[in-house]
Amino acid sequence: MKITGGCHCGQITYAAEVDPATVRVCHCTDCQRLTGTAFRTNIPSLPRTFVLKSGTPKIYIKTAESGNKRAHAFCPECGAPIYSAAPEPNPATVGLRVGGIDQRAQFEPPIRQGWCRSALPWSMDLTGVASLSRVRQPGVHTHRCGRPFLLLSTGR
Ligand SMILES: [Zn+2]
Ligand SMILES: [Zn+2]
Repeated sequence: MKITGGCHCGQITYAAEVDPATVRVCHCTDCQRLTGTAFRTNIPSLPRTFVLKSGTPKIYIKTAESGNKRAHAFCPECGAPIYSAAPEPNPATVGLRVGGIDQRAQFEPPIRQGWCRSALPWSMDLTGVASLSRVRQPGVHTHRCGRPFLLLSTGR
């Protein structure tokens, strides 16, 4: 499918084609550091389909323990991760960061997750975690503005 995407501040935009059934999750410690969160979610672009439409990403070359190098592209203004690729001038394919893709909600669930032994234990299964909209119990709560309010029922 054809996709479009970009960074948070809008400087960087791109287009590509992907197979929506090829989302992957990586729990490695490098991805945790580089994303600032629990794990990375990627989808590879189909060969020769990635086109940068605007902006110039900054490239950070990550060297793995194995010595392998990988180019990580991110927005120099807002820091949003864009893709990673082989560190060469015109890589055939790039690993797009799913969060930057406009059509990300249409992708199928991940087909694979890697480096599970460094996964944060809770990140392997979030099914039992209460979602924010349901966490409130009846009782006295405080609005964001500081004003208290009484919640009589959660409406469930
Ligand atoms: Zn940006
Ligand atoms: Zn990783």
